Amino acid sequence: MEESDLKNLPGVGPATATKLKNAGFTTAEAISVTPPKEISEKTGIGFNTVLSIVNGARETLGIDFMTAEDLWKKRQDMLRCTIGSENLNQLMGGGIETQAMTELIGEYGVGKTQICLSLCVRVQQPVENGGLAGKVVYIDTEGTFIPERVFQIAETLGLDPHETLANIFLARAYNSSHQELLTEHLFKFCPENNVKLVVVDSMIGHFRGEYVGRENLSERQQKLNSQLHKLLRLTEAYNIAVVITNQVQANPTAFFGDPNKPAGGNVMAHASTHRVYLRKGGKGTRIATVIDSPYLPEEKARFKITEGGVEDAGEE
Ligand code: ADP
Ligand code: MG
Repeated sequence: MEESDLKNLPGVGPATATKLKNAGFTTAEAISVTPPKEISEKTGIGFNTVLSIVNGARETLGIDFMTAEDLWKKRQDMLRCTIGSENLNQLMGGGIETQAMTELIGEYGVGKTQICLSLCVRVQQPVENGGLAGKVVYIDTEGTFIPERVFQIAETLGLDPHETLANIFLARAYNSSHQELLTEHLFKFCPENNVKLVVVDSMIGHFRGEYVGRENLSERQQKLNSQLHKLLRLTEAYNIAVVITNQVQANPTAFFGDPNKPAGGNVMAHASTHRVYLRKGGKGTRIATVIDSPYLPEEKARFKITEGGVEDAGEE
């Protein structure tokens, strides 16, 4: 639905449409998936009015109840972006999915950012070449987005590096509330700019740094949860792929195996559609494992980081 179509929603006159637009709610999709309380707070429109607008938007889009057949059809629109490594693609059921949030988990230096940078290039390719024919928003919380590296990947793949860089919208998030603000802008920004991939690298860094100690844990988790669900709604509203990175933390209760576990607890675990755990293998290889997914089996894929991004790696 176009911006101007907001006025066609039941109960939305020109003044209300302007208020909604100024608060970043420019489409019926965005309105229909945002909690009414939040819309009311941001627009200053009374709660009951918002409630009827939201209901109107939902009715217009016909999204209150859908049959399983409708859902099946919606999921046929789901696209998959190649990661660069066939092993990884297969592990992920064909690539990074739209209408889903994929979480890359692993210790420092394992290659989370490298996968994200590779995706930034790949996603711009036409669908027949494994891309999503779209642009990228990259929310960088750690300052590890290196344009020269994107340039190198594009050049190695025989693509125009300058054009590739021009299609990546970068936002440096300076703290968790700035990150929140940027996340909210996405509902307006993504449809207006044909964004098909949103990367948040890292999702949790600021939260861990700002909310230290047990007494702050529940507030941290609540804020993290709200932000994660906004991203999830974004994937569904606009058929977008969201990729977030997550760190590991020491797991003092582990006696055997990996002494690390993903940060972010249950909130993170429940919000992500697919969780991919990355670790280092021998000879510079990396091993990816799907640890939590509604339909992907728990398998392993071996890959390596190269000039062109990520590639398959053979056995050690
Ligand atoms: P994380 O985000 O998980 O902390 P990174 O994605 O930054 O980790 O990965 C860092 C790794 O990527 C390092 O091992 C580094 O050697 C490797 N790497 C970075 N650029 C290249 C390149 N051009 N060719 C090969 N390996 C690279
Ligand atoms: Mg990184």
